[in-house]
Amino acid sequence: MRQRRVWLISVLLVAVLAAGGAWLGVRFRHPEPQPMAASPVAPEIPGWMERTEAIMGTRCYVQLWADDQLKGDEAIDAVMEELRRIDNLMSHYKPESQLSQINARANEEPVQVDKELFDLIKLSTYYSQVTEGAFDITYASVGYLYDYRRHVHPTEAQIRAALPAVNWRNMLLDEEHHTVRFEHPGMRIDLGGIGKGYAVDRGVEILKARGIAHAVVTAGGDSRIIGDHLGRPWLVAIRHPDDPKKVVTRIPLSDTAMSTSGDYERYFDEGGVRYHHIIDPRTGHSASKVRSATVLAPTATQTDGMSKTAFVLGAEKALEIINRMPGFDAVFVLPDGRVLYSNGLRPPAPRPAGAPPPKATVASPAPP
Ligand code: ADP
Ligand code: MG
Repeated sequence: MRQRRVWLISVLLVAVLAAGGAWLGVRFRHPEPQPMAASPVAPEIPGWMERTEAIMGTRCYVQLWADDQLKGDEAIDAVMEELRRIDNLMSHYKPESQLSQINARANEEPVQVDKELFDLIKLSTYYSQVTEGAFDITYASVGYLYDYRRHVHPTEAQIRAALPAVNWRNMLLDEEHHTVRFEHPGMRIDLGGIGKGYAVDRGVEILKARGIAHAVVTAGGDSRIIGDHLGRPWLVAIRHPDDPKKVVTRIPLSDTAMSTSGDYERYFDEGGVRYHHIIDPRTGHSASKVRSATVLAPTATQTDGMSKTAFVLGAEKALEIINRMPGFDAVFVLPDGRVLYSNGLRPPAPRPAGAPPPKATVASPAPP
């Protein structure tokens, strides 16, 4: 946290000077122009390489520094393959996925799944617990009634009927047999709010195991950075909610993960209301306290879980929680355009001479 603050101050000038190009969403900047991967790749030539693929219904991106471009290309292949594997296991769009099997049968019987999927479902209940249900994968019991591409949203009566099925406590998880059973009719789950972060972490593990020391892996709104950008931090931009070309703030980062949840990703507007993909499990409506919430933490699974929470709870309540979580930070863009930062990202306020030292923030136990 202290390190981030030091960066923020010392690198602010660099960040401002570097504010050249127009970035779409969260973008990662090269300090100097670097050769990109040529096709076919040239072995034993060091350089930056990058690739974008559409996986998990979103844009997945890997950028890395490779000492040998053939090995770099193979490393990117391995990450993309891993993202596809996770998608096949956890997608609720694919009827043959294990997650779809849960949704199809867990109302009638316990459904056994791979330990990996079971563990992620279990972990999601941790985030439900610490956020008092703001993060809840059973939100899907209502969430499936929305179709953002076709501009479909449920009526109030439909929401009222479906809402009792939204409650993570009604998911019976059997640790021994890795089974999931729904204890309330009409329940569904969707890992769209944590699965991409998990996939990014798996991708990062693959790159590290192959000796990659400078890289970024992104899936949708979730990214994780390995190392720095050859001696300088990566500069990460948080976009303006209404204009993808505008940047509201830039944050210099190394060796960290970051997730942004925004009301501009999947949405439609109707009658002055924005219907978008982040649902408040307590109401069944799209949450509207902030325009975007960005969370920083060591792993992308952590930041993904907490970015929905931050979005649903709004800046004030979410900052109460995040300021107590060691290693976590957050940035909010509010409906009136203000940008709020967690304590770890705020420049230290000048204190009058002789003032007593500031009180330490109370810390909660580190999350898994
Ligand atoms: P991205 O998928 O681009 O990374 P987010 O991290 O903001 O974007 O995740 C949004 C997704 O989270 C939604 O599409 C939905 O699948 C899921 N989701 C929405 N609301 C909740 C919630 N309250 N709790 C858990 N997951 C949610
Ligand atoms: Mg995400």
